[in-house]
Amino acid sequence: MSSTDVVVPINYLDLCRICLAENHLTDILMFGETSIQWIKDIKTYFNVQLQFNDHKSTKLCRRCIHKIESWRRDMRYAVNSQIIIDFFDRRVQSVMGIDVEED
Ligand SMILES: [Zn+2]
Repeated sequence: MSSTDVVVPINYLDLCRICLAENHLTDILMFGETSIQWIKDIKTYFNVQLQFNDHKSTKLCRRCIHKIESWRRDMRYAVNSQIIIDFFDRRVQSVMGIDVEED
């Protein structure tokens, strides 16, 4: 048995790039203009770099896509919360007579 006989799943391009799931796959490169953002977010969230000319799978399963979508919602929520936090902060600072730098 030579080294070329090492078993490579014939459908290795049809595996989720993140978790190796075989079902409910979506190719990130088929998302059109948003593909770039998906590639960025997958890199940030999973630390996995996909490429436009990738030789490897660019597919993610439903579960991994859902994780990114959920994370994006959490980030938006956190950003919005900062508006409230900043508001309270400014109120407290002004009550205490401290000059507040506007940003
Ligand atoms: Zn997955």
